[in-house]
Amino acid sequence: MPDQTCACPHCKCVLGSDAIMKDGKGYCCQGCAEHHAHGEPCAAATGCECAKSAHT
Ligand SMILES: [Zn+2]
Ligand SMILES: [Zn+2]
Ligand SMILES: [Zn+2]
Repeated sequence: MPDQTCACPHCKCVLGSDAIMKDGKGYCCQGCAEHHAHGEPCAAATGCECAKSAHT
């Protein structure tokens, strides 16, 4: 199975062992799985700004 990337539109994070499956899609973290509805930051420590991008 190839590496999958997070289904969050602006997130490029690769799904790891902590990936969350929701609606048949994989998300790298809870924040992405909830579409950052409450401003949760991305769990990635790489400076991913998908959470900000979700609120533009
Ligand atoms: Zn992200
Ligand atoms: Zn993500
Ligand atoms: Zn995200």
